[in-house]
Amino acid sequence: MFPYLKEAGKANFQDRYVTKANELLISWDGKHCSSIGLIGAPLSKSSISHSGAAFAPQAIRQALSFYSTYSIESGMDLADVTVTDYGDIVMHPTDIAASQRRIAETIEQVVALQPESMWIVLGGDHSITCPVVSGWQKQKGTIGIIQFDAHHDLRNLEDGGPTNGTPFRRLIEAGIVDGSRLVQIGLRDFANSRAYTEYGKQCGVTMYTIEEVYCLSIQTIIEKSMQMLSGVDAVYVSVDMDVLDQAFAPGCPAIGPGGMDSRTLLHAISLLARYDKVQAMDIVEIDPTIDFRQMTSRIAASVILQFLKGKKERV
Ligand code: CA
Repeated sequence: MFPYLKEAGKANFQDRYVTKANELLISWDGKHCSSIGLIGAPLSKSSISHSGAAFAPQAIRQALSFYSTYSIESGMDLADVTVTDYGDIVMHPTDIAASQRRIAETIEQVVALQPESMWIVLGGDHSITCPVVSGWQKQKGTIGIIQFDAHHDLRNLEDGGPTNGTPFRRLIEAGIVDGSRLVQIGLRDFANSRAYTEYGKQCGVTMYTIEEVYCLSIQTIIEKSMQMLSGVDAVYVSVDMDVLDQAFAPGCPAIGPGGMDSRTLLHAISLLARYDKVQAMDIVEIDPTIDFRQMTSRIAASVILQFLKGKKERV
């Protein structure tokens, strides 16, 4: 009736030949699930530094609208891919441990609903990885983890409890992942302490510093890591955005120089996603309230697209 009116919030311009990446997300209707599920775990009260990472799931979903579904590098279009969006897990307003239990329980429930699906979990701070993996692993058997991170996240629990500095220690100590099946990629100088490097080594954790990423090449590291994890039933990829140099990821609470460039991270994700065993991924540690021009959320959206691309290339 009114040709120049549009729904509030809808894009001003639409090109009939372009599918926007946010159109791939279809809200869960309570019945139907696709082969890829996405869910938000908006918890950041567990962060040891100031963090608004609880706002990241929505910021990342929104950042998908900056992209099309067409990959010029592979010649592939993701327009026929459907990602079931389960929404966000409701956090307890004051009780961090209760929030983490809600995450573990909900992830276990949704994964049980569709055990064959690939899962993308949007944090939140890095503490969410412990409950997410705990819930996910119940359907998977023996698992391996590939962690992109500037930090070990193997801190002791006595000083602060289940913070974003402890998820991998908690997973190892709970026996959910064996230390020898955890690979840490992108560890940075002056961002860790000797005690935690030693602890990781004692547990058999494989560690690649950022220096090694550039000396060996990310492709070699991914191939070696997946070779090492060939005996596990499923591999979980955890992407702490602070693995990136501060120039690429200004929206991370723990920014620092000398980190990974965004192209290397995106390449790593597309390589990993091609492996059948890689069945879940989280993206954590983005605080949209301190981000600049949504730069960090845009990389997260791009990480999702590279994951989808890798999964589609596989078949
Ligand atoms: Ca981390």
